[in-house]
Amino acid sequence: MKTIVVISGKGGTGKTVVTGSLAALAKNKVMVDCDVDAADLHLLLHPRIIERHEFRSGHTAAIDGDLCKKCGRCLAVCRFDAIKPDFSVESFSCEGCGLCSLVCPHGAIHMQENVAGEWFVSDTSYGPFVHAKLGIAEENSGKLVAKIRQVAKELGEKNRADYVIVDGPPGIGCPVIASLSGVDCALIVTEPTLSGIHDAQRVIDVAGHFHIPVKLVVNKHDLNHGMTSRIEAFCREQNIPVIGKIAFDKTVVASMVEGKTIVEHVSGAIKEELCKIWEGLKI
Ligand code: SF4
Ligand code: SF4
Repeated sequence: MKTIVVISGKGGTGKTVVTGSLAALAKNKVMVDCDVDAADLHLLLHPRIIERHEFRSGHTAAIDGDLCKKCGRCLAVCRFDAIKPDFSVESFSCEGCGLCSLVCPHGAIHMQENVAGEWFVSDTSYGPFVHAKLGIAEENSGKLVAKIRQVAKELGEKNRADYVIVDGPPGIGCPVIASLSGVDCALIVTEPTLSGIHDAQRVIDVAGHFHIPVKLVVNKHDLNHGMTSRIEAFCREQNIPVIGKIAFDKTVVASMVEGKTIVEHVSGAIKEELCKIWEGLKI
């Protein structure tokens, strides 16, 4: 079983256009949406949730009003102003450091584990799909990514899948590193703009650091031929195969708005290019 991750140096490059098409083209696979901060692959895959689990991460202080003697020590030591004058905890401000529970002379504060989000195993017409939703203002998205990747791996092994296909988060932060670790290939989707080139270079560096083979697709390549040529020249220098160039097409946007994968609902050159990308990606 091989794992392929689709990533981009930044959001809005059309990564999900490509991932959604791979869901339709690849047979015998498990799909995973690791963009847990802003998950959107479910809008194309229309999952039927069959398992729902809490994701627990971090702690928040909780004050027992019956035990609290209102001495004010906790309020004085909290550097995050998370304890309000009425000795209740503002959970969004609490960093979970636990200092207040140490200084409370009456044992009125305990640290409780946060429910930071949910993760799901779903059935789709494209096969099994593992996805998640991080709670508002919650952290530790890298830990949630690692969790759902592990679930997808186990599901893939159980189903004897050929591929696990991961829709990775944008950027180069912790959840991206968690998405990249141990994969067999990273497909980078970029666009022909200065920031597109810059952000692609950053994520190529991150993948290179982990010795992960990289392939690249230029989305909307015809909007700036000069920039596309610069990307191709850079990839030649770095020995990175450019396995596809997708033209700008309003039908792609319309298809996404309708929640449909491109290869199933757009015909012609775009569909052919996406099929070519899958052929170039197979390992
Ligand atoms: S330190 Fe304990 S007893 Fe004192 S105000 Fe805080 S919670 Fe109440
Ligand atoms: S756990 Fe830390 S951040 Fe949270 S209320 Fe207590 S002292 Fe403040």
